[in-house]
Amino acid sequence: MVIVQKFGGTSVGDLERIQNVANRVSKTVKAGHKVIVVVSAMSGETNKLVGFTEHFGENPERAEVDMVLSSGERVTAALLAIALNQMGHKASSMTGRRAGIITDDAHTKARIERIETQTMQAALDEDKILVIAGFQGVNEAGLVTTLGRGGSDLSAVAVAGAMKADLCEIYTDVDGIYTTDPRIEPTAKKLDKISYDEMLELASLGAKVLQNRSVELAKKLNVSLVTRSSFSTAEGTLITKEENIMEKPLVSGIALDRNQARIALGGVVNRPGIASDIFGALATSNVNVDMIIQTSGHDGSTNMDFTVPQNELTDAKAVVESFCQKKEIQDASFDESICKVSIVGVGMKSHTGVAAKAFSTMATENINIQMISTSEIKVSMVIDEKYAELAVRSLHNAYELDK
Ligand code: ADP
Ligand code: ASP
Ligand code: MG
Repeated sequence: MVIVQKFGGTSVGDLERIQNVANRVSKTVKAGHKVIVVVSAMSGETNKLVGFTEHFGENPERAEVDMVLSSGERVTAALLAIALNQMGHKASSMTGRRAGIITDDAHTKARIERIETQTMQAALDEDKILVIAGFQGVNEAGLVTTLGRGGSDLSAVAVAGAMKADLCEIYTDVDGIYTTDPRIEPTAKKLDKISYDEMLELASLGAKVLQNRSVELAKKLNVSLVTRSSFSTAEGTLITKEENIMEKPLVSGIALDRNQARIALGGVVNRPGIASDIFGALATSNVNVDMIIQTSGHDGSTNMDFTVPQNELTDAKAVVESFCQKKEIQDASFDESICKVSIVGVGMKSHTGVAAKAFSTMATENINIQMISTSEIKVSMVIDEKYAELAVRSLHNAYELDK
């Protein structure tokens, strides 16, 4: 089999752990498999590098930021290759460029456009262990790009798809996908299986155990994805097609997203095309807008409230201010002290009363719901950040997810 094994930041957090990863990879190779390893930077490293780039002033050149950020993964990839070679294996590290990962130009959150597999294939044909630096690629102009935070998961899935791997294992510091973040709710239960769609919702709604784009791509390419711990031999969680899951729980999990900000626009000029202009401009600036609420204001204008990721607020502000200058928006306010809690489950499709229970749980805890959005398989609520953990725990309890 060809197996992709991805190791996250904690799993390669120090030299001893890199040796531990090398031992695990070695075992897989000795069992007769071809292994492509994808690694993250050592835990804390990317945050440190982000801090460095912000030292000299606001809005550093993003192409330069990517040069800095991509370096963390190169270090771990090369160290792991060295460790494997010392053990008598033939291993070779590769940057995103050498692995042929071609992206668009959106520095710091680039999308993978294609993978040129020749170099990787040639190395595999020579029975080498490939160790790929995750989180990075290169654009058509040859500039280094990074794939957004948590992007090594995406590198792993994309490489698994392109190399037609039989399995993509994501090794991390928990032994699978839980009903909610086990660091917030210790009674959270590990799931044996979860559908791509539920996992995609959980990841998009804040469960950082997998990057959302990696799940989206795994579904599209039908990559067999398993999340498991690099510190134990416990069976992990299989992320698979819905039809492979016999029992469909009403609610599979609860997600929390603290990286949210709310933008409230008042006195928005009421003309056809205004929403398209504002949200079009936000999209052009690569701002991901989530919940949107439009209400009518007095004097014939409208109000628009929406949420964006906190780390995209600077870009969003710039767009909003350009409309304020044109007098198409009278006033704008920005609130970072919010979070979003969500319940996710495919069983919701065929049951009523699931959302009502979420609202009554918030009411019992005296938590005010500021915004609501729903889809077939999720209910999300924006609430005050200070109630984040309380909300997660009470919802987990209300849907009896510890049972
Ligand atoms: P890595 O560095 O290996 O990529 P991450 O820190 O990105 O690891 O993701 C693993 C973390 O995700 C866990 O330590 C856990 O706190 C968090 N997490 C959030 N939601 C969940 C969930 N539903 N199941 C498991 N882990 C979760
Ligand atoms: N090192 C990067 C980050 O911290 C990518 C990753 O770990 O997946 O976001
Ligand atoms: Mg991660």
